[in-house]
Amino acid sequence: SYALVWFRRDLRDFDHAALYHALKAHTHVYCAFVFDTDILDALPDRADRRVEFIWESVRELQQALRSQGGDLIVLHACAKEAIPALAVKLKANAVYSNRDYEPDAVARDAKVAAKLASHDIAFHQYKDQVIFEQDEVLTQAGKPYGVFTPYKNAHLKKLNDFYLQAYPVDRYRQHLAASDKTEMPTLESMGFARTNLAEMKLPTGMSGGQQLFAEFQERMARYKDARDFPAVKGPSYLSVHLRFGTVSIRHLARTAWQQHNAGAETWLNELIWRDFYFQVLHHHPQVAAGRAFKLEFDAIAFPNQQALFDAWCEGRTGYPLVDAAMRQLNQTGYMHNRLRMVTASFLVKDLLIDWRWGERYFAERLIDFDLAANNGGWQWAASTGCDAQPWFRIFNPVTQSEKFDAQGKFIRKYVPELAACHEKEIHAPWLMPPLRQQSLGLVIGKDYPAPVVEHSVQREKALSLYKNASATQ
Ligand code: FAD
Repeated sequence: SYALVWFRRDLRDFDHAALYHALKAHTHVYCAFVFDTDILDALPDRADRRVEFIWESVRELQQALRSQGGDLIVLHACAKEAIPALAVKLKANAVYSNRDYEPDAVARDAKVAAKLASHDIAFHQYKDQVIFEQDEVLTQAGKPYGVFTPYKNAHLKKLNDFYLQAYPVDRYRQHLAASDKTEMPTLESMGFARTNLAEMKLPTGMSGGQQLFAEFQERMARYKDARDFPAVKGPSYLSVHLRFGTVSIRHLARTAWQQHNAGAETWLNELIWRDFYFQVLHHHPQVAAGRAFKLEFDAIAFPNQQALFDAWCEGRTGYPLVDAAMRQLNQTGYMHNRLRMVTASFLVKDLLIDWRWGERYFAERLIDFDLAANNGGWQWAASTGCDAQPWFRIFNPVTQSEKFDAQGKFIRKYVPELAACHEKEIHAPWLMPPLRQQSLGLVIGKDYPAPVVEHSVQREKALSLYKNASATQ
């Protein structure tokens, strides 16, 4: 019998739920990936690191499947029409894919399922990109968790070898079917230009994921101490690989789970945060439609000044750590987790701009953009989310800078204008006396912006916005 495996955000040929189930049940298994015009046409930019990352990863996957006697059919089309048409053409009895929890993907998959059903073709979907999904971790009352720590405890209690074991795809590889080995579309033929991805130290595809994880395993034990300092190589940099499934979440989680040290435990904790936000999205899909999780904060009257938003986007707020972080995002598509928290908090509680504006900007720029984690992170920082930062806790951008980039190493890299400042000056350069500025050849307000707002003033305004919103409930 014949089957088609539809790859989406699972670009690997090992430990892959849908591929395993298809190979086990069918003697001829075709594989396909669609560069979906519904998604690509909506992207704001024709040079997009994510499209290039996917393209490189798809190419590696195609080569890998071909070397095993199979193939990857790569199309540039509207996926919800192309997949049923391909399944009919290949005389597939069933289509297999891994579940995607984003509302647009859920709607697309429902259409595909209906179309396939009209041709009597089954559509099988599997859990693959998370450890536990949907209703697998619920409270004793059968409700979704609204607070992370009890969710994490229940998650860890349930975790065992069974849930973390790899799907043994190798057992049935002989069922991979070769197709006609057509060339995959080039980036250019799809209307996309190359980006600076190749210049960045970000290896793509399954091999890139393996390389990064091998390197991270050397430093995993130190993760807890190193993770908060953007100038230090602390985190794994695997988010984009998790996003596109070039690594297996089970493999990563198993490796951390089997180690008993504070670094591995903290890292596993982060992987559980990832699951947590997926389950928030599943149970509360309205958060993806711009709604605050905490309804009392859904309609805060943010002043939303466009000029302040532009300064934030372009990394010229006059707050060096915020500016360095935004420039890192613009130049590389990545931003360190501590800085995502700092810049998000700054946008909302210092610049008094609606968190949805920032969420959208990150969604356009982050190479690892993931709706569940990005929305969760923004609503956390804006205090509107599920188990969010309390609204009266407001990061001080200067203190954060002194604490997490004490020597200004990260700032100097992305804000070279300030490279000559002493580490005592670099966090709040506007405080340097004019004579000192002159001697450094750096005039604040000319060579580097003066602060666009004053933190202590804005803090009070933010507090009253939130206080009023919570009082009107
Ligand atoms: P590591 O520290 O090595 O963590 C390992 C993995 O755990 C990450 O790759 C990620 O998959 C997961 N993880 C870590 N922290 C979180 C978290 N807080 N929430 C959910 N998952 C987490 N992460 C994304 O993958 N995509 C996003 O679009 C995204 N947007 C964010 C927006 C804001 C405002 C904030 C505060 C956080 C956001 N995060 C997002 C979470 C986190 O910042 C990134 O996952 C992390 O910085 C990626 O770097 P890393 O792979 O080196 O992480």
